[in-house]
Amino acid sequence: MTLPELRRVPAPDSDERANWFATVENKLLEAEERYRALVETLPLATYTGDGAHDTGPSWVSPQIETITSYSPTEWMSNPELLGQVLHPDDKESVLAEMQRVQEGGGSRDLEYRMVRRDGSIVWVHDSGVIVTEGERRHSRGFIIDVTARREAELELERQNDQLRQLDSLKDEFVALVSHELRTPLTSIRGYLELISEDTNLTVEQTRFLTTIDRNAQRLQRVVGDLLFVAQVEAGKLSLEAGTVDINTVVNEAVHAAEPSAAAKSIELTVDLCELPEVPGDRARLAQVLDNFVSNAIKFTPTGGCVTVTTRILPGEIEIVVSDTGIGIPAHELPLLFQRFFRAERATSGAIPGTGLGLAIAKAIVTAHGGRICVESEDGAGSTFRVILPG
Ligand code: ADP
Repeated sequence: MTLPELRRVPAPDSDERANWFATVENKLLEAEERYRALVETLPLATYTGDGAHDTGPSWVSPQIETITSYSPTEWMSNPELLGQVLHPDDKESVLAEMQRVQEGGGSRDLEYRMVRRDGSIVWVHDSGVIVTEGERRHSRGFIIDVTARREAELELERQNDQLRQLDSLKDEFVALVSHELRTPLTSIRGYLELISEDTNLTVEQTRFLTTIDRNAQRLQRVVGDLLFVAQVEAGKLSLEAGTVDINTVVNEAVHAAEPSAAAKSIELTVDLCELPEVPGDRARLAQVLDNFVSNAIKFTPTGGCVTVTTRILPGEIEIVVSDTGIGIPAHELPLLFQRFFRAERATSGAIPGTGLGLAIAKAIVTAHGGRICVESEDGAGSTFRVILPG
């Protein structure tokens, strides 16, 4: 705002002096009008006070009525109003904080609830400061309605709580079910072994027993995987420290997979290079290799090829399992290591599995300080690389 020639005050009692005062007054009124309009159109209520909250605000903008349902006049004339409208759960702490700022000076940033005239609750953010000018202390600040944000946050908190509860329920459920299945399965397999030793069994009976045992083994694997995932999620994956000859582990995994490769006329080849022994848990690394090799065979149609190679890299060793199978589309690659994830082709083709193998493999390899990389093309095969510190 520019005031007219303030430095040159006209001589007393002149007309010019009267005009000068009128112009200054008009300019001040215009400025006040402008700032009032600005303050009253802000999406928040502003207030000023004399620094003592028990006297209430000396001025508050009209938006306070939209926010709290009480008019500026009510706020300015009733110093008790704040105490009356504060939500009972917030009252004590808010008044204490206001008292603290009032006595010690400085600023405050509070969020609290007020109960409106109709009983509805409004969450406000109240930001105020005590300013000292000479002997005088003023308070000024603003109040903004944050109910929508608060409700969204509370809703999110409620949902997170629910998810946490569900998650722990699921963990308990998985652990319970797995334990309950494990014992009867061990017993079933024990008795199957005893019956199989009976030399009087017919060929058909032996075939039935073999099928029962294969399915019991499959169930045992699923139960083992579920328990393993529950352990990993509880942060309880423990490795048995030792040294591992990776080429031997690869040969064993390939040997175990030969019958299923042969059943699908899949050419299973191995190309190993000389490797140093690596530190690690032999049984766990064997589990990883078994999973990659059995997946490669499972997801490769009849007549395809699966190759397992080992390589030595600077400070690392690499195990590569490639196949000429169904492949994985690019959009599914980032989801591959999530527990229970199965690609669309696996489910639509009814290829059996639980979607736990890769999640387990990743947990084991990561615990060894290694990593897994995948390259794949939809319909054109996949390559999984396990890289371990060597
Ligand atoms: P499962 O084999 O029990 O389904 P995994 O966790 O081992 O579970 O694998 C998750 C999914 O990743 C599989 O269901 C499949 O969709 C995809 N996948 C894994 N390995 C291959 C592979 N060699 N070729 C094609 N898809 C694969």
